[in-house]
Amino acid sequence: MPALPDPILALTAALGKLPGIGPRSAERLALFLVQSNVTFVRDLAQVLVAARERIKTCSICGALTEQDPCAICSDPRRDSSVICVVEHPVDILTFEKAGVYHGLYHVLGGKISPLNGIEPEDLRIAELESRLAKSPVQEIVLALSTDVEGDATSYYLAKRLAPTKVSRLASGLPAGSGLEFTDEVTLNHALEGRRNVI
Ligand code: ZN
Repeated sequence: MPALPDPILALTAALGKLPGIGPRSAERLALFLVQSNVTFVRDLAQVLVAARERIKTCSICGALTEQDPCAICSDPRRDSSVICVVEHPVDILTFEKAGVYHGLYHVLGGKISPLNGIEPEDLRIAELESRLAKSPVQEIVLALSTDVEGDATSYYLAKRLAPTKVSRLASGLPAGSGLEFTDEVTLNHALEGRRNVI
């Protein structure tokens, strides 16, 4: 069987770098795109570039935003006495959709995972400390996943951020998964039943 033309191979290779897209899916998408309406492909390319250029990371909390600071950090009605620490920007959306939390956020960027080479300095912990130094809070609520790494990260943060009170969402979040898969009722219960880490 003759090889596919180079532009299709190049497109397949590029698409294959996307998360969750294996080689077969990448090839299927590439073949779909090169047979699509040129206007559709051009619009898709423009939307891609525009989204990437317009979205940045909030310099305070780490959320994805068009304006810096983000809408939450610059909203005076938010409760600035509490910061909810999450692993990923998408976790903020989960809380906001549920409407059960009215404080501020801080995106950690993951969790401590020595096996995967993720050390505390790879996360946005120093940024959190400088936030606390500038404007102290009454409580830090950790909303990390309920697996071994989430547990270890919570304990580490509670020790490092002392004497600031550090609590953690009550159990009830699905083990081993992030907040992305949590429904609103579960999230509300987890928030109301939060406990001090240490
Ligand atoms: Zn922000």
